[in-house]
Amino acid sequence: MIHLKRITKSFGRNEVLKGIDLTIRKGEVVAIVGPSGSGKTTLLRCINYLEKPSDGEISIDEFSVHFKKPHKKDIHALRQKSAMVFQQYNLFRHKTALENVMEGLVVVQKIPKEEARKRSVELLEKVGLGDKLDSYPSQLSGGQQQRVGIARALALNPEVILFDEPTSALDPELVGEVLGVIRKIAKEGITMIIVTHEMAFAQDVANHVVFMEGGVIVEEGPPNVIFNVPKEERTKQFLARYT
Ligand code: ATP
Repeated sequence: MIHLKRITKSFGRNEVLKGIDLTIRKGEVVAIVGPSGSGKTTLLRCINYLEKPSDGEISIDEFSVHFKKPHKKDIHALRQKSAMVFQQYNLFRHKTALENVMEGLVVVQKIPKEEARKRSVELLEKVGLGDKLDSYPSQLSGGQQQRVGIARALALNPEVILFDEPTSALDPELVGEVLGVIRKIAKEGITMIIVTHEMAFAQDVANHVVFMEGGVIVEEGPPNVIFNVPKEERTKQFLARYT
């Protein structure tokens, strides 16, 4: 179980997150939706400390971090418990698909190279890239690069995978293959938080949908409620743009 408690984040005077409370159950797929600038990406980045929250607390099972004065070792531990899939893939350009997936296992987790290689090959096969192990990012399509990014996140065996608009940099014809892979791993019971503008996908894959606006959670609930019978006027107005 992951608990976010009163998470706040300001950039200078701009308070981007205004006290976020959110509970995520093990194996749950949470979609975070909302207008541009509402703080979705910032929230995701705060969860694994790519952004330093101004205040608040996160707990993952027994483990917790207080963001006001976090200990260095807790931040390190928090980062080990989450893996991010980035909008722009963020692969090492000079490493092959296989080396990109192996990197975190060998360098961070200190897993022996042969074992890391075996696990990485299996994961690349799982995301449909068994024939691209030795390709460099420049030799792969955007969709293939993003699937390497997903394999890399899975390799770390994290408590939660954080997806930051994983398809928004892709040409429309490549979106489906990436969503297909995410859908497949969602079925395996991996806890995932997905920031997305793909409403149909959120409705289909998520067990829980969070609608954010202006740095707060306006409304949250099961997809059939949020998408079909939202209570809040702001949610209705936002979703009306997608129908
Ligand atoms: P989008 O859907 O367009 O990606 P979002 O809901 O993910 O939007 P964020 O990217 O979290 O929104 O941005 C929220 C606000 O925080 C915006 O006003 C943005 O300008 C501001 N912001 C984000 N990152 C920084 C930063 N590093 N420095 C200053 N301001 C930032």
